[in-house]
Amino acid sequence: MEEKKYTMAELLAEEDERLKREAEKREQEKLLEIERKKEEKILLAKQKEEEKERKHQEWLAEKERRANTFEDRNIECKKCGKEFLFSAGEQKFYKERGFFAPSMCKDCRASVKTINNFRKFEG
Ligand SMILES: [Zn+2]
Repeated sequence: MEEKKYTMAELLAEEDERLKREAEKREQEKLLEIERKKEEKILLAKQKEEEKERKHQEWLAEKERRANTFEDRNIECKKCGKEFLFSAGEQKFYKERGFFAPSMCKDCRASVKTINNFRKFEG
């Protein structure tokens, strides 16, 4: 009887130990899962950052390409309102010299120049 009681206590202790180990194991797994999710999050953030950087580089390349690609286009003269051609060749020329695109057609530019010269002469 004494033996059996002891065994029962022992069994209970063993059961407690087993439950404790299981709880520890679950806790361990939970921590590992948290760690795994954390790493996953870091990896995702890194991938997102790399993707952002890649897109930025693409955007820069596209911007560079556009800055060096010229196409004939029309500009409305701010003086007479007529449209005049700002050719690809002219655009390249202007860009290379750091000039702004012309705002007036050739005729208006010429007349403004004449008026300015006249004023200079008068003054
Ligand atoms: Zn004009």
